[in-house]
Amino acid sequence: SGSRFNREDMELLMGFAEGLALNLERITLQEEVILERTEKEKLDELNRMKTEFITTVSHELRTPMSSLLGLSEMLQDGKIKNKTVQEKMLHLITEECSRLTRFLHNILDIGKIEQRAKTYKKNILEIQPIIEDILQLFQSQLESGRFRLHTEIPRDPLTLEIDRDALKQALTNLLDNAIKYSHDKRVITVRLVDEKESILIQVQDTGIGIADEDQGKIFSNFFRSTEAIAHCPRGVGLGLKVVAHIMAAHNGAVRVESHPGEGSTFTLIFPRQ
Ligand code: ADP
Repeated sequence: SGSRFNREDMELLMGFAEGLALNLERITLQEEVILERTEKEKLDELNRMKTEFITTVSHELRTPMSSLLGLSEMLQDGKIKNKTVQEKMLHLITEECSRLTRFLHNILDIGKIEQRAKTYKKNILEIQPIIEDILQLFQSQLESGRFRLHTEIPRDPLTLEIDRDALKQALTNLLDNAIKYSHDKRVITVRLVDEKESILIQVQDTGIGIADEDQGKIFSNFFRSTEAIAHCPRGVGLGLKVVAHIMAAHNGAVRVESHPGEGSTFTLIFPRQ
């Protein structure tokens, strides 16, 4: 336009510029403070979760450890002379130890899953003998808990490309829950279903069931329903997360159908290769 800035204009502009620079500096500082606070909050949350995890796991270990200690001390004292009672106590020790081993397996697996380090070794295997092995392992626990076990397993061999130990672990977790969350009516049904597009393994119980609003939450870390906690204090809410991971690794899924007070059916769905 041909106009020129005079000294006054320049002073005014410099005043604006200084104000702007100060504001910018303040915003940057505020951003840093907010960032630091968020980092601290994240760290606090992580520490809280760590403490909660340690507390839950210790709590879970305390009861079986003290019952193991009690039983072995009684046997060591030599006060129990009756052979049948001695055998019963040894049997309880074995059951408690295998329950602890299963619990530790789940904890170790969750660690690997969280670190994305859990791997599976798949082979083409016949499924029936794997299911039978697991049922055999649970036999005495089912008998001592006065459970009735129904099996619906077709004779013709069915094969899948699976990780044997992982399938055993998934079934173990489902059977453990079926036992843990059963009432007086103690019937467990294990089914192997040969469908056109998939092979299904079902574990059905007649226990406490799961409320509709909880059915979507039970596969996440540490979730336990209020009813489950009231019915059975034992549990940390990790077993089904492991099952879901195993099924995803087999390109399959785990599904739940349940009615409170009537029971639950968990289905492992393996797509046919
Ligand atoms: P945990 O049994 O240690 O609590 P899980 O991950 O195996 O952990 O199960 C998560 C939750 O899902 C349980 O706490 C319970 O609320 C519910 N649940 C699982 N299986 C059953 C079942 N068979 N009957 C009723 N509720 C179940």
